[in-house]
Amino acid sequence: MSSTIKLEIVTPAGKKYSGEIEYLKAPAIDGQIGILPGHAPLVTALKIGLLELRKGEERLVIPISEGFMEVTPDNINVVVRTAELPDEIDVERARRAKERAEKRLNGKDSQSAHFDYVRARAALERALARLKAADANKD
Ligand code: ATP
Repeated sequence: MSSTIKLEIVTPAGKKYSGEIEYLKAPAIDGQIGILPGHAPLVTALKIGLLELRKGEERLVIPISEGFMEVTPDNINVVVRTAELPDEIDVERARRAKERAEKRLNGKDSQSAHFDYVRARAALERALARLKAADANKD
């Protein structure tokens, strides 16, 4: 069995990542999932969170929003609405998005029957994932 597995990450903007890796941790809808080469085939929804991939000494953390992942023994295909590579993450923008979302969630509008909690919560989760990834990629 090969010691690597090919990972492709695609967003509506195009291919974000393509390469052989040794391990992937992904935020599947029903919990974190770890994938090594030769993994049993599966398809799962992904939630907002972090993809963590490893190859040798290299470790890369990529924030994603919702999407899907297909795994075969030799390939992992990730299709997500957004994903940013380390040099693409705008930390200031993510900080501002976090503040906006927190204000919305804690403000008086959040008591209104029309308040879209799921949307505000998702915006906060995206911002937190981007900030965490930016931090993790510093090490
Ligand atoms: P914002 O409120 O700052 O737009 P958002 O979470 O609503 O954040 P998304 O709808 O998830 O933004 O993303 C829209 C586009 O902007 C995507 O292409 C995404 O990759 C990019 N993007 C969003 N936030 C950042 C960020 N902090 N750094 C780099 N790219 C970002």
